[in-house]
Amino acid sequence: MGEELRAACVVGWPVEHSRSPAIHNHWLRVLGIPGAYRREAVRPGDLPAFLAGLAARGYVGCNLTVPHKETALELAQADARARAVGAANTLWLDGANLRATNTDADGFIANLDRQAPGWDRMAGKAVVLGAGGAARAVVYGLVERGAAPILVLNRTPARAQALARAFGPRVEAATWDGLPAALAGARLLVNATSLGMQGAPRLDIDLAPLASDAVVADIVYAPLETPLLAAAGRAGLRTVDGLGMLLHQAVGGFALWFGVRPEVTSELRRVIERDLAGGPVGGERRMA
Ligand code: NAP
Repeated sequence: MGEELRAACVVGWPVEHSRSPAIHNHWLRVLGIPGAYRREAVRPGDLPAFLAGLAARGYVGCNLTVPHKETALELAQADARARAVGAANTLWLDGANLRATNTDADGFIANLDRQAPGWDRMAGKAVVLGAGGAARAVVYGLVERGAAPILVLNRTPARAQALARAFGPRVEAATWDGLPAALAGARLLVNATSLGMQGAPRLDIDLAPLASDAVVADIVYAPLETPLLAAAGRAGLRTVDGLGMLLHQAVGGFALWFGVRPEVTSELRRVIERDLAGGPVGGERRMA
């Protein structure tokens, strides 16, 4: 009997922009696993039917991207992590049960550990910019690793306040115009807004108030070096880019679907950098 071909997919609307096929198909190839990872364009209203038919379509699980991450919480058995973040990005079939988690928090922290080892040995204030889905994952990861205090600043203050309320006393909301004071002496700055992304306004802030040994992380990965990271580099601060988070958040899903915990290697990073630059890798791939 031939080996079972396991398949997973990324579900979005639109879905063409997703880098997940390039990541998972790289791992399938280097690990020699007979599996497949595809893109599935699914309209928002069609998500319930698509997920109900996941097994019938031959899938053992899927990633979710915009606009499905929040809806999925209602459609699958979400774990505490996905519920706290308010979004699910990874689903898998556990027997007949469809289960959901969120791997962005782990991805962010694993990347911070990789690119700025020892960041958590430096006690001190962390500042997170943004209060959307990605910021919630970042704050969840930081709280879990014991960072305190964590200041959250957002253009729309009510969202920062709601986030702070949801994550307890170690997380405080501050107003966007209080940024210089928030940054004073901070040891970690994370941009979790979409500012600095290709086509979006840049994030232009004065980094001088930060501690001289601060780490500056940006979760935006297109471009790879955002204006914020370039400025932090010029100021002699340690920098952490967003591509690593994207790669590390994929590890958990691959392990659930294909039974092997893959490595985030420099080779994978090069492959995805080429993919982001419009190179010839990525897309659907099937190994038999
Ligand atoms: P989201 O839920 O739409 O949140 C967007 C955030 O950016 C909000 O806090 C929003 O503030 C803020 N923002 C947008 N435009 C702004 C502006 N002109 N001035 C000030 N703030 C502005 O999006 P998300 O899912 O959290 O994603 C945020 C970014 O993270 C995106 O660029 C995404 O690509 C990236 N991301 C990266 C990874 C990774 O693996 N590296 C994972 C997830 C997301 P308001 O609340 O005021 O609108």
